[in-house]
Amino acid sequence: MNNCDWTRQRKARKKHNCCECNKTIQKGEYYSYSSGIWGHEPYSSKTCGYCAELVKLCCHLASKLKYQDEHYPIISGLSDFMSNFKHDYGITIEQAACQL
Ligand SMILES: [Zn+2]
Repeated sequence: MNNCDWTRQRKARKKHNCCECNKTIQKGEYYSYSSGIWGHEPYSSKTCGYCAELVKLCCHLASKLKYQDEHYPIISGLSDFMSNFKHDYGITIEQAACQL
């Protein structure tokens, strides 16, 4: 259970790796930095701008489809969420976004 978290936009002062696609976030690029407590453990993650937008889209779709909290995309789980979504609905996230 995620019981305390926040996400902020940051401008990279050095290179980072995106926790979703593992691409390099270059110095000067904007990225999302999330931090909080998952269960009883602290966590933090850095997500590139592209993946951050995909996460927002997936969360929006999950909300529209009335997913339970545990079925929302989790950190580093975006590709799994997208694969499962395509398997369950037979369409991609992008196709679903155009239909909702
Ligand atoms: Zn990424």
